[in-house]
Amino acid sequence: MTPNHVAIIGAGFSGLVLALSLQKQSVSCTIYEAHSASLDIGAIMLSPNVLRILDAIGIYQQIRPRSFQFQILHFCTDPPVDTFEFGNRDRYGYDALRIYRYHLIDVLVATVKEKGISIEYGKKLTRVVSWSETEVSWEFDDGTTDRAAYLVGADGSEVLIGKQKRAAELDREGWNQLMNDKQRCVDFLRQGPEDFPALVQGAVFHIPLDKINLWPFYMPMLFPPSAGQGVNQAFEDVYTYALVSSQSQSQDLKSARKVWQHGRQERVDRILALNSQIDARRMPKSHDSGPPELDQEPFDVEWLYGADFEDMVRNWLSRVVKG
Ligand SMILES: Cc1cc2nc3c(=O)[nH]c(=O)nc-3n(C[C@H](O)[C@H](O)[C@H](O)COP(=O)(O)OP(=O)(O)OC[C@H]3O[C@@H](n4cnc5c(N)ncnc54)[C@H](O)[C@@H]3O)c2cc1C
Repeated sequence: MTPNHVAIIGAGFSGLVLALSLQKQSVSCTIYEAHSASLDIGAIMLSPNVLRILDAIGIYQQIRPRSFQFQILHFCTDPPVDTFEFGNRDRYGYDALRIYRYHLIDVLVATVKEKGISIEYGKKLTRVVSWSETEVSWEFDDGTTDRAAYLVGADGSEVLIGKQKRAAELDREGWNQLMNDKQRCVDFLRQGPEDFPALVQGAVFHIPLDKINLWPFYMPMLFPPSAGQGVNQAFEDVYTYALVSSQSQSQDLKSARKVWQHGRQERVDRILALNSQIDARRMPKSHDSGPPELDQEPFDVEWLYGADFEDMVRNWLSRVVKG
């Protein structure tokens, strides 16, 4: 194990981009993935803030020809409800991209391997065995153990390193019944509120049954910041985490990571505020008033899409130096 070697749990988008971001900062790492390959179904939209990151780690030029480029999202009803700018090469340096997940995963995995970063598949972390200031060790489900200076859980929606709500296993009939029982879904969400932060408790406190859409995907799901940022926020998080980790080695790393958490939370809070503005504009004013008049006033997204992450992290770290 080289000093400062990082073990990354999960070869999803976050784990792969974190590995390339650390490699760019000359920090060595290994990725451990529970399955035999990364999940690659569906498609995602990427905005300029994240395309700048993917450009910096050598991915953007490779994915551009495999994706659909656009600038404006149109929310179509009759009449149309709203538009939302998702990218603009003249304003932010990049148009937005929509890309199938497997294209992005293919490029990320190929680039990770090309850079000599090891991905070990079929290695599911089951528990952390010990940790100290200088080393962490853990066990896989095949009984083997490993160790590194740092362990990062990029384990996404399975969240072994964290908390989740897991519903009981159901057969097809059970799912059919659940789809017609919104109250049961709400009761499930409200169980054990003390295990979750105030934000989650607040979100499940008042859920009007008539506003619920049941989405019958048999997979774990976390709801990230919206305004279309979903996976984009994950990319921002791992890129800035890599910058903070590599640039703060001579400083107090614990404090630096607190500053990282504080800094990213400020951005998440702004995304949540933007999302509330978007919701407010699109919501009918009352149940029977129909869709609102189309408001063409553009949202303020310059701070979101135009972010300079190197500068942002320098700014965050200056707070650590100043104490
Ligand atoms: C149905 C669905 C549709 C979505 N659509 C969109 C969308 O349109 N736009 C958008 O922005 N976002 C979307 N999302 C969210 C998006 O998929 C996530 O934000 C993104 O996948 C997060 O990436 P991640 O790498 O953090 O986690 P994941 O993609 O969940 O990857 C985590 C990886 O860690 C591995 N792992 C987990 N536990 C362990 C362990 N103990 N040991 C080793 N490996 C482990 C998993 O096998 C997995 O490969 C969607 C999610 C779902 C479920």
